[in-house]
Amino acid sequence: MSDCIFCKIVSGEIPSAKVFENEHVLAFLDISQVTKGHTLVIPKIHKENLFELTPEIARNVFEVIPTIANALKEEYEPIGLNTINNNGEHAGQSVFHYHMHLIPRYGKGDGFG
Ligand code: 5GP
Ligand code: ZN
Repeated sequence: MSDCIFCKIVSGEIPSAKVFENEHVLAFLDISQVTKGHTLVIPKIHKENLFELTPEIARNVFEVIPTIANALKEEYEPIGLNTINNNGEHAGQSVFHYHMHLIPRYGKGDGFG
C-alpha cells in the first residue's frame, strides 16, 4: 500500500533498524521503544490487522517469533518479554499494517506496564 509506513519500511523507502528478515517477514526496532529492544514483527505483505491475516500469513509471522525473541534475549538480556498486538483503532492500533510488538522486560521500573 503506497501510503503505509510499514510497507515503505519493507521496500526500504523508510530506513529501519532491522532485527530479522526472511522472504515473508521483517522485524525492526520500534522508533519509540517503550523498553530497550522493543521490536515490531510484520508480514511483508500489507494486511491491516489480525482480522485480515490468512492462516498462511499468520504461520509465517508466528513461526519466526521464538527465533526473534531469543535473538532479543541474547542481545539485551531481559528477564521477560511481552508479545502485544493491537487490532483496530479502539484497541490501540495506530499503524494499520499488522504487527506484533515484542517488548523485552527488565523488572520493576523498566518503563512499560
Ligand atoms: P500500534 O500502536 O499500531 O500497536 O503500534 C505502532 C508502533 O509503530 C508504535 O509503537 C510506533 O512507535 C511504531 N512506529 C510508528 N512509525 C514508525 C516508523 O516510522 N518506524 C518504526 N521503526 N516504528 C514506527
Ligand atoms: Zn503496509
